[in-house]
Amino acid sequence: MDSLSELNRVNTAREILRKKINDTGRTSIYDLTGLCGGFEICEEHLKLIETYVGPAIFSEKITNAGLNHLSGNSEIHNVVCFNRTSSAILSTIMALSKSFKKLVHYVPEKPAHPSIPRSCGIFGMEYFESDSLEEIISKIDENTLTVITGATMDHRIVSDEIAGKIISYAKSKNSPVFFDDASGARLRRLYGKFPALEMGADLVVTSMDKLMEGPRAGLLGGNKNLVDQIYSEGMKFGLEAQAPIMAAVVTALENFDLNTLKNAFERAEKIDLACFEAEKLDYEKTPTGFIIKNPSEEKLIETALKLLENYGIVTITAAGMPGASKNIRIDFCSKDAERISNEEIINAILNSLK
Ligand SMILES: *Cc1c(COP(=O)(O)O)cnc(C)c1O
Repeated sequence: MDSLSELNRVNTAREILRKKINDTGRTSIYDLTGLCGGFEICEEHLKLIETYVGPAIFSEKITNAGLNHLSGNSEIHNVVCFNRTSSAILSTIMALSKSFKKLVHYVPEKPAHPSIPRSCGIFGMEYFESDSLEEIISKIDENTLTVITGATMDHRIVSDEIAGKIISYAKSKNSPVFFDDASGARLRRLYGKFPALEMGADLVVTSMDKLMEGPRAGLLGGNKNLVDQIYSEGMKFGLEAQAPIMAAVVTALENFDLNTLKNAFERAEKIDLACFEAEKLDYEKTPTGFIIKNPSEEKLIETALKLLENYGIVTITAAGMPGASKNIRIDFCSKDAERISNEEIINAILNSLK
């Protein structure tokens, strides 16, 4: 899909959403993307949303709550906030491309999130991606920035064993390790896996909007020197989060509760999807929902737009940014998931596919 037809799709989805909200209000919409963009700010912080005053207060709170969220160590780690996970990734690659000529990226399943290869393209970094541990190990040397995706866009997660092997090999070659844990920081915790920084990663980024009720900001944590270098580079181009986003990130981090995710996890485990088999659908359960991977990309987009138009169900396939996965993913950790039954979701999908 080229970017322009992707933008057309986003605009079509927005138009449908606008019409639905105007006609019947927000309750006619079921956002099941798992990215809901919570934006809670307490009274006290609302008064501080100013260019210089806000960040003075919020940055310290983000560092403290962020270190806790990412299991960092205040002696050696720092945590800062960017406008998006993609902005944190762009800043990281911009800063580290000065010292490292290539980026080697392990993904539990291809393809990678496009923000990583695209950022490499801008700064002339050689890019290699693979889902094979052996291939990754064979490419890492002292000129490499090593990236590990903790959980893919379709919520496939990396094993601790593979992550551990890559980290220790990269360390032996003096190659810094950057963990793209956009959703993985929380998903991997659900599975009892180790936090990236505890495993020895130098840097980790996570989204405040994925499997948690925060704005679409990116939280970057890791080695103090590296984080400071990346943050100052990002600031030159306006990639750092501003006071309103920071205030909402503070609330999201302080209110985060793994139990909400556990409920979604249980619902996903229990849902009966046998009816998809009869329709010869290629489906798969994810930790907090399920995905449908066929028929073609075009058909999936068409189906997703029908799900939106006829049932008010929002998916990333319909409304997501250009380059996002086209598989239809339903996520039960979305706030709206409580208002819609499994049966209603399954029937809506089957009818929209017809
Ligand atoms: C979502 C995601 C990103 C980018 O997040 P944005 O909010 O779109 O900037 C990057 N990497 C992975 C693995 C993701 O899932």
